[in-house]
Amino acid sequence: MTDAALQSRKADFPGMVTADGQPWHYLDSAATAQKPQVVIDTVARALGADYATVHRGVYSRSAEMTLGYEAARRRVAQFIGGQEDEIVFTRGATEAINLLAYSYPEKGRVLLSELEHHSNIVPWQLAGWQVDVCPITEDGQIDLDAAEELLTTEHTMVAFAHVSNVLGSVVDAKRAADLAHAVGAKLLLDGCQAVPRVPVDVAALDCDFYAFSSHKLYGPTGIGALWGRAGLLAAMPPWQGGGAMIDKVGFANTTYAPAPQRFEAGTPAIVEAIGFAAACDYVSGIGLEAIHVYEAELVRQTREALRGMNDVTLYGPDDSAGIVSFMMDGVHPHDLGTILDEENVAIRAGHHCAQPLMEKLGISATARASFGIYSDEEDVAALIRGIERTKRIFG
Ligand code: PMP
Repeated sequence: MTDAALQSRKADFPGMVTADGQPWHYLDSAATAQKPQVVIDTVARALGADYATVHRGVYSRSAEMTLGYEAARRRVAQFIGGQEDEIVFTRGATEAINLLAYSYPEKGRVLLSELEHHSNIVPWQLAGWQVDVCPITEDGQIDLDAAEELLTTEHTMVAFAHVSNVLGSVVDAKRAADLAHAVGAKLLLDGCQAVPRVPVDVAALDCDFYAFSSHKLYGPTGIGALWGRAGLLAAMPPWQGGGAMIDKVGFANTTYAPAPQRFEAGTPAIVEAIGFAAACDYVSGIGLEAIHVYEAELVRQTREALRGMNDVTLYGPDDSAGIVSFMMDGVHPHDLGTILDEENVAIRAGHHCAQPLMEKLGISATARASFGIYSDEEDVAALIRGIERTKRIFG
């Protein structure tokens, strides 16, 4: 039974109907979340009546926009329990991880896991780290016993998904932090799928860096954040050069602004930052504890229905955070996705930017249904009806 207060959230989202006004069963929130009207209105205002550049203008509109942009930084920091000078605005989680991989001064060995998104694999490879891989357990959790065995004093970083975008499994972050710290390494959590689904407090998690994107948290695209402990960010050299990240520029010598401005070269994503903060307000107003419980119930209903079908394989743990991956015997996930689309049900089919995980599971793709705060039992029912129809089509 789902929570009635949360069911009504669908009305906050103008994108939840099809072009001809039919209900749209959007089950691809792990890819990107729909936007509530309040975020759309905030972005429209920032792009319109409030719009000006930040940090440079001497006129009042620019000064106000600067206050708004820096207030957004404070809001985003507060959302994950951090301090404002610990938030670097980036284009998204991908850029946040690239920034860390390139700029972290002690490049050495990094321990990743088999379930990582490509964004938490390729940056480390490109930046020249030696990559080691921690296996996952049968039920799709990062195997922290194995991590304990694998970690050495040569590791300077451990980088794990807080929540898997394919399996929905949630890592025991505190234990991962303890293991990393025991060998002198730092812990980065890729929080892309966690921030919309589980309460996040970086102090309680005891991680050192946290990366996430606004667009999965009901905010605009084009912005995300790298949170890092102030002392660690202060020790990192700049990554990209340009305006706004400097202290003084000369041809002989250039000095840089302190963190986080040091990592924000160029005119920032002003409007997007303000929309990001509005999304934090919206989600906090509902409460992540409630969202987590609500999505857990939708996951339970979906897994129960799919478990009742003997030609469906389920992946991930039963207590997955808002994400259900599965395969139907004899039906490629792309075919399933196409048939479901005819029923106004939108799922994701593919490798979900986690090819090493697909290889581990011995498959090339899964079908994935992922929930948001606008999802409800009718969406689950529409999914199950669509799967039944697909079965009939494929005989
Ligand atoms: N990590 C995970 C776990 C993700 O799910 C995603 C997005 N699918 C990313 C990283 C990358 O996020 P973005 O594309 O917003 O940079």
